[in-house]
Amino acid sequence: MNLIKTMQEIVGIDRATDAPVQLYCYSSDASQIRGTPDCVVRPQDTEQVSRIMRFANEHDIPVTARGAGTGLAGGAVALEGGIVLDLSGMDRIVDIDINNLQVAVEPGIIHSKLNEALEAEGFFFPPDPGSSDMCTIGGLIANNGSGMRSVKYGTTKSYVLDLEVVMADGSVIHTGSKTLKSSAGYELTRLMVGSEGTLGVITKAVLKILPLPKARTVVLASFETPELAGEAVVKTLSAGVIPSACEILDRTTVEVLNAYNPNISIPNAGATILFELDGTQSSVVEESETVESVCNPLASGIRIAADRDEMEEIWSARMLVGAAISRIDPNRTRVYVGEDIGVPIKEIPRMLKLVQSISDEFDLPIMTYGHIGDGNLHTGMCIDMLDNEQWERLNLAADKIHKTAIMLGGTVSAEHGIGSARSEYMRLERGGALDVMILIKRALDPKGILNPGKLGV
Ligand SMILES: Cc1cc2nc3c(=O)[nH]c(=O)nc-3n(C[C@H](O)[C@H](O)[C@H](O)COP(=O)(O)OP(=O)(O)OC[C@H]3O[C@@H](n4cnc5c(N)ncnc54)[C@H](O)[C@@H]3O)c2cc1C
Repeated sequence: MNLIKTMQEIVGIDRATDAPVQLYCYSSDASQIRGTPDCVVRPQDTEQVSRIMRFANEHDIPVTARGAGTGLAGGAVALEGGIVLDLSGMDRIVDIDINNLQVAVEPGIIHSKLNEALEAEGFFFPPDPGSSDMCTIGGLIANNGSGMRSVKYGTTKSYVLDLEVVMADGSVIHTGSKTLKSSAGYELTRLMVGSEGTLGVITKAVLKILPLPKARTVVLASFETPELAGEAVVKTLSAGVIPSACEILDRTTVEVLNAYNPNISIPNAGATILFELDGTQSSVVEESETVESVCNPLASGIRIAADRDEMEEIWSARMLVGAAISRIDPNRTRVYVGEDIGVPIKEIPRMLKLVQSISDEFDLPIMTYGHIGDGNLHTGMCIDMLDNEQWERLNLAADKIHKTAIMLGGTVSAEHGIGSARSEYMRLERGGALDVMILIKRALDPKGILNPGKLGV
């Protein structure tokens, strides 16, 4: 069996490689996890993917699907070698079907490109990861990713109507249909969403889309402490206002944003909440008044973004905050470990307090930002990556953050996925449900060739 020769026969000589430099480039994602594949293959259609899977299954070769490699948990890293299946070349928008409120796409389409095309029609695909300009829709579906809008619009799983999936043995199935609802049998679409390439390779997706809201505004509220900010969020949601985004920025995060783009000058307080409200002109005004009156007793300052330009500047800087943190201290690097917890909304103030005490306990500054409206907090830590002692403290702090989130009824990953970075927590978080996942994995991929070493299955 000659792996590279067979792959080149299937996809063409230029679309499969085992050149060491290429293998190196594909040996990581945006996390610190590494694993070198034996070859990288870039298929162009479903039939090629099916032939690759059939061959891999016959010869027990691991296959790791890959979109843009922006994942933060090692999901697209080939831990056991084998084939990395780079789907970024399958990037067509197959059909924008406004009459049926849906769009059909190939998995490699970049998220922001899809929304640019939909915007021209007055529609949008609501999940909005900070990596919008980089990540693929296939990767987003495989991770059940989301972003700032999930507090109002939900996560990716709410928008997937049908998936074309190549299974481990090379067979091709459709998990759903083009209807907006269906109660025909097991919900295989939901099973595939969030399965991180361990159950099949997504080669097409039909996604629900929504009309763009007519009006938007942003209310910026500053608070002396993160806990007061958390309290204000809980009270706002309980008052019946569901913002289209509800983001927390702690003091360090605001410093980073202001350094990254001095034009936005967010007041530097203990914590800032950005409430975005969308809807009609009148609903936006009414809801921003409610936000102001609920936050007033707790906040040290409140203002509304001056205009659309200021709003866009705030959001584009916010999207890059994870990377922009290096502006604060060039000797430290942002490490994506323990960075994606989620807790039930009412536990937000308590979680914020506990993060602060973990930061003190391990003498490690933690920058907290994220989608506080749905309980998703990004706890950003930066270290000198050459210093083993700092690594040790970071890992201990991350472990405590994960266990604290689970203790509060939360999750170790609200949107970035489990990959191999967080698989050790699956038993603690999911208990006996992990055994059911293992049974499903064995049934659909008996030889365990699809993305081995991920999700704890
Ligand atoms: C700066 C930055 C900001 C980010 N912000 C967010 C955010 O706000 N929200 C968020 O959710 N994530 C965020 N992420 C994480 C990341 O962008 C998402 O997880 C994204 O969905 C990954 O897409 P990708 O195309 O890069 O997938 P990859 O990293 O290539 O793969 C991710 C997983 O999906 C699987 N996969 C990929 N394509 C397929 C396919 N076609 N079929 C089956 N499995 C497949 C892979 O095997 C892997 O397990 C951020 C990352 C960065 C670097």
